[in-house]
Amino acid sequence: MDLTRFPRAALTDGPTPIRSLDRLSTHLGAELNGVRLFVKRDDVGPVGGGGNKLRKLEFLLGQALAEGADTVITVGALQSNHARLTAAAAARLGLACELFLTRSVPREDADYTGNGNRLLQDLFGARIHLLPGEADSLAEAEARAEVLRGEGRRVSVFPSGGSSPLGCLGYAACAAEIAEQAALIGLDFARIVVPNGSAGTHAGLAAGFLALGRDPRCVLSYTVLAPEEQARSATIARARDTAALIDPGLTLPDDAIGIDGAHRGPGYGIPTEGMREAVRLMARTEGLLLDPVYSGKAFAGLLHDVRAGAYPAGAAVLFVMTGGVPGLFAYRGEFAGA
Ligand SMILES: *Cc1c(COP(=O)(O)O)cnc(C)c1O
Repeated sequence: MDLTRFPRAALTDGPTPIRSLDRLSTHLGAELNGVRLFVKRDDVGPVGGGGNKLRKLEFLLGQALAEGADTVITVGALQSNHARLTAAAAARLGLACELFLTRSVPREDADYTGNGNRLLQDLFGARIHLLPGEADSLAEAEARAEVLRGEGRRVSVFPSGGSSPLGCLGYAACAAEIAEQAALIGLDFARIVVPNGSAGTHAGLAAGFLALGRDPRCVLSYTVLAPEEQARSATIARARDTAALIDPGLTLPDDAIGIDGAHRGPGYGIPTEGMREAVRLMARTEGLLLDPVYSGKAFAGLLHDVRAGAYPAGAAVLFVMTGGVPGLFAYRGEFAGA
């Protein structure tokens, strides 16, 4: 898979580590049903605290810089990791950044409205526009971009989660990285597990494995935002668009996208008991941090399925840690005194 024709801004430091979860595995004992658990540390990165959005921003900002942009605008929830990392990457590259943030999660307390990612978005110098929960933030962002262009600025607008086909290339590249690392350590991952928010992480990995001649069904995501069927159709569409960008000859079968909606709970950004257990368990057995909105719910899903015997003994399963640590501070009440 040759992606060199796409310009890339340098926001990552080479392959992120893969390692096994030995202490968690010992703790789970027989509940593991013989499954071997691994994590890929996409939560670690050299800009803005790290997280999965950096891989997408490498392509999005690479193109923006090639087009001579001086300003980037993106959208997200108040506690958006994508908005935080866009602001940080823009600072690193010397671009102005504006964020259109929606109050899509029913929280008005100071932890949610002022701490975590909201604090960091300000710290990275982004100009913030706050919108009500039901606002069309992308339309507002496009309108603002037109105003700025009228003033002579050169503006790029990125969609929610950075999940345009171009952004998804970041995770197509990650599929190749995983395949190389797996070959190097002599492992054949039965499944690669990710959270699904704006669908770009799953879509990019699926398109990447397809382009590598692998079965894209090796990827499974737990949706934390859209209900299962909606997440499936969005992910299929994005995976197809991404695959077409890599090679118009690729075809993604209808059943190529596996999505589980059982661990989303009442809705986006609303805590579940499984999430709380997963975050605590990973912290206390491995010293690793999941986040309350995405990776906590996805890891809860993986733990549930492993305990339920969804994988044969000996299967190696890779969980991609996607970041989001600042979210823990916005959800202090869920963990305080835990
Ligand atoms: C955005 C995000 C995800 C989901 O990735 P998508 O590509 O939007 O599906 C997962 N984990 C964290 C921490 C995120 O910020």
